[in-house]
Amino acid sequence: MSTSPLESWIKTKIGISAQEPLTRGALESYQLHRLRETVEYARQHSPFYRSRLAEVRCEEIRAPEDIARLPFTTTAELLEDERRFLCVSQGEIERVVTIRSSGTTAPPKRLHFTAEDLELTVDFFHRGMSTMVKPGDRVLILMPGELPGSVGDLLVKGLRRMEVEGIVHGLVRDAGEVIERIVSEEIHCLVGLPVQVLALARHPDAARIPLGWLKSVLLSADHVPSSVVRVLTAAWGVRVFNHYGMTEMGLGGGVECRRLRGYHLREADLWFEVVDPESGRPLPDGEPGEVVFTTLTRRGMPLIRYRTGDRARFLPDPCSCGTVLRRLERVRGRLAGDIILAGGHRLNIAELDEVLFPLPFLLDYQAVVRSDDGRACLDIAIETTAAAGGEAPPLVRRALLEVRAVRRAVADGRLMLGAVGRDAFARSISIKRTVVDRRKEQ
Ligand SMILES: [Zn+2]
Repeated sequence: MSTSPLESWIKTKIGISAQEPLTRGALESYQLHRLRETVEYARQHSPFYRSRLAEVRCEEIRAPEDIARLPFTTTAELLEDERRFLCVSQGEIERVVTIRSSGTTAPPKRLHFTAEDLELTVDFFHRGMSTMVKPGDRVLILMPGELPGSVGDLLVKGLRRMEVEGIVHGLVRDAGEVIERIVSEEIHCLVGLPVQVLALARHPDAARIPLGWLKSVLLSADHVPSSVVRVLTAAWGVRVFNHYGMTEMGLGGGVECRRLRGYHLREADLWFEVVDPESGRPLPDGEPGEVVFTTLTRRGMPLIRYRTGDRARFLPDPCSCGTVLRRLERVRGRLAGDIILAGGHRLNIAELDEVLFPLPFLLDYQAVVRSDDGRACLDIAIETTAAAGGEAPPLVRRALLEVRAVRRAVADGRLMLGAVGRDAFARSISIKRTVVDRRKEQ
């Protein structure tokens, strides 16, 4: 089994010859050099960083741990006025990505990219996808791609560089139609959101896709439940890869190698850390915390120590594929998505996903915590296959109690299990799923 293709790509990017091996030392000294360059560049060109980094002495950033001397950048600061982060004139911006969080009146988040910034992402998509497809393959992209510079558009461009055809379908609205395309257009690989791809596998027409027809699936844009990976692997006999990225990272951040044990990262373009979400202190490998990244090659809008709000940890052991690249374990939901109940019990969607998605009739669900006479109450609205009968709600209820936090909170009298049913399910596509907290609205 081959080493992650990201390794040879990164080696070339940082200027190491084919004869020499890539070492952590060489990569870190490149990263530190780029980091100092980024700090200088951002301080010279961005009004935000001019004041934020005024006190930083670049010559003091000599070892990886010195990055902790730099201040964090937060989403709130981006939301306040992202134009303060710009390092180039508006005329040099090729694409602005606007992200609105659904169901809120919060201002949208905007990220600006130059043509060079987008090219770096296309290059990453090209190398990352070579892990799972080969020349002549066809990839159906179940993500937005109409606009130039959108994720689907950049992916198509990256795939074209290795003679793979990327076909943008967009988000799934009609699963039957997508299944028809997979068969009639001889698709080898799917790229999509975990829950949307799961719904394809559980559609009544899913049996039209012969076992072994699809060679790989890449899940992205939201945390990927292990339960969904297991269902897809069993249904289609495919290898299911995880991609980790967010718009702020330039859409792409890292991808799993064929060992499927955590992401290898774009280490020549991005510097990742995991920090204690409370104290901000960097954590050693193996300890879970908040993912933080710094752009090392971004021109339009560099970000320094940007707090992602995602929960993950670095895996302490080297990957069995043999690369020296680090491995970030699969992201386990968002820190802000935790619901803290009286008594300190924490609920999050990633844990609910692991017990609910194995239920063979479940297509999607929404979890809401509300207040009932001062006590927290968990309601679950479910979307199920047509074959699911009246036993679905009690099975969901039973599965919920497999989550330790739910079981304990129920035993402590801090949580009640409320309604489980189909009526309250509101069809919508939310990219980042979460448990909805309605306690304060009441
Ligand atoms: Zn690997």
